[in-house]
Amino acid sequence: ENYSKIMGIPVPKLTMTETVQILSEVIEKRQEELYHVVTLNPEIAMSCQHNAALRQIVDRAGLLTADGAGIVMVSRVKRDPLPERVTGCDLLYHLLAAGHQKNWSFYLLGADEETSHAAEANIRTSYPGAIIKGRHHGFFDASEEGRIIEEISSANPDILVVALGAPYAEEWIHKHRDQLNARIAIGVGGTLDIIAG
Ligand code: UDP
Repeated sequence: ENYSKIMGIPVPKLTMTETVQILSEVIEKRQEELYHVVTLNPEIAMSCQHNAALRQIVDRAGLLTADGAGIVMVSRVKRDPLPERVTGCDLLYHLLAAGHQKNWSFYLLGADEETSHAAEANIRTSYPGAIIKGRHHGFFDASEEGRIIEEISSANPDILVVALGAPYAEEWIHKHRDQLNARIAIGVGGTLDIIAG
C-alpha cells in the first residue's frame, strides 16, 4: 500500500526527495489546474474529524505530506509507517533550493509586513536563482482580497506560498484555487517567520 491512514486520511508514503521530485514534475508539466499541497499536521488531521468542509479540502488536495513527528509516530504505532516527516517548513526550504537551481518563481502571501519583507530579502540573498514575483502580508481585509488575488494571478508563479496559519491557509487556497493562476499552492504555517529570522 502506498498510503498510510492517519485518522482515516490517506497520507502517501513519500520521502522529502520524492515529494520534491513530484512537485518538480508538476511545475514542468505546467498544467492549468492548481496543485494544492496540504502539509497535514496533527491539528489539521484532528479538525478533519468534525469539520467536513476541511476534510473535503484535504481529500481534494493534489498531495498530502506528513507534517511532523506526531503524524509519523501514529503511522509507526499502526505498523504502517510513513518514511519520514515532510513538514511545510522543510519542504519550503527544499523547494527554494530546487527553485534556485531551476529558476522557479514564487509568490509569498502571509505573515506581517515586516516579516514578509525580511523573508523576501533573505530568500533573494540565499536563493538568488529563485524568482520572487511578488509578496503581500497576510493581514488584509475582504475589501483588499480581490486586488491581492489579481496580483497573484498576474504574477503567475510556479509556487504560491501561503503563510496565513492553518487551516485558514488551506481554506483560502481552496476557495480561490481557480483564480490564482499558480502551478502549486502550499500552506506553510509560520515558516516565513523562520525564514525572516
Ligand atoms: N498570519 C497571517 N494572517 C493572519 C493570521 C496569521 O498572515 O490573519 C500569519 C502569521 O503572521 C504567521 C503565519 O500566519 O506568519 C502562521 O502562524 P502560526 O504559526 O500561528 O500558524 P500555524 O503554524 O499554526 O499554521
